[in-house]
Amino acid sequence: MKKELQLESIKKWLPALRKTSEVTQSNHPIIISGPCSAETESQTITTCKQLAATGKVHALRAGIWKPRTRPGQFEGVGDIGLEWMVNARKETGLPITTEVATAAHVEASLKAGVDILWIGARTTVNPFSVQEIADSLKGVDIPVMVKNPVNPDLELWIGAVERLSKAGITKMAAIHRGFSSFEKGPFRNAPMWELAIDLKTRIPELDIICDPSHITGARDLISFVSQKALDLDMVGLMIESHITPDAAWSDAKQQVTPTALSKILDALIVRTASSDSKSFKDTLVALREQIDQLDDDIMHKLSARMKISEKIGQYKKENGVTILQVNRWEEIINTRVAMGLAMGISEDFSKEFLKLVHQESIQIQTNVMNDALDKHANV
Ligand code: PEP
Ligand code: MN
Repeated sequence: MKKELQLESIKKWLPALRKTSEVTQSNHPIIISGPCSAETESQTITTCKQLAATGKVHALRAGIWKPRTRPGQFEGVGDIGLEWMVNARKETGLPITTEVATAAHVEASLKAGVDILWIGARTTVNPFSVQEIADSLKGVDIPVMVKNPVNPDLELWIGAVERLSKAGITKMAAIHRGFSSFEKGPFRNAPMWELAIDLKTRIPELDIICDPSHITGARDLISFVSQKALDLDMVGLMIESHITPDAAWSDAKQQVTPTALSKILDALIVRTASSDSKSFKDTLVALREQIDQLDDDIMHKLSARMKISEKIGQYKKENGVTILQVNRWEEIINTRVAMGLAMGISEDFSKEFLKLVHQESIQIQTNVMNDALDKHANV
């Protein structure tokens, strides 16, 4: 059973940022950009001015206090960076956002007049830290964006949103920046899109922004992940940008110049969540009817398959044969995966699907065998 959500009202505030850029069309993604870290005043201000000049950025970001994996790396310029960001806002007219991890960070950011705060992935994992931030924000209704925790734990992500909500924060957003994983994939952090989709289903009123920079860890992959995020109906993107990315003091490989950012944004296809056109709606209804029919067939076939499994379970029991027969299982996997591939179904999907079907069959057969044990016990 899922625990009931402990949320007060969540207000929409991100769409209002559209008025800060030339791109104001109502379905256009909100773009937050700026360097991973504020390094020097001129690097911060020049980057922000170039970003503003593209006309496509709605808010400016920069890290002032940097949570680094190992000590001895650049850990941020500290409070002085807030002054640089305030100057960047003066020069560009764009709102500014920075990461806070402690009550002291919150206090300094509020004092400097930062417009939006965000909580980093390494902080969202720690309920003590999130609670400290929430407590320090009591009575202040500043927008706060919550990055997903580094580990793929949706409850922890939701818990952070709940803590802020209970402290009276109403303007919130979630940032999807991917999850740390031991297995090395193509990305720095595995996107595990299903977690962001689950969050959207659990808290539909909470807008989600994607951070393709920290998901990919590589500038060449940013376009691809950004497009995917838009196609999943995320409302915006947070993308790191630096005037000289290769010379950046943190996250050099994933930062892009403001010019490159502008090109990435130009190439994005912005689709709408729905269309008012009658022929579009009619076609969609017809296609969905076909899907409904096919799902119906799939469920009936699955049910028939499970009933046969049950019969096999009975038969094995009567003949004293074990449930699991590895050879048979391997044969199923090999033949079905090959068949699926020939029909355009990916190997990963077939394997996952068959694994679930097999687990359910084993469960059914285990019940058949245990039923016999229970009856035995009653004699
Ligand atoms: C960042 O935005 O620079 C940052 C530190 O991100 P994350 O918390 O996602 O690692
Ligand atoms: Mn970064």
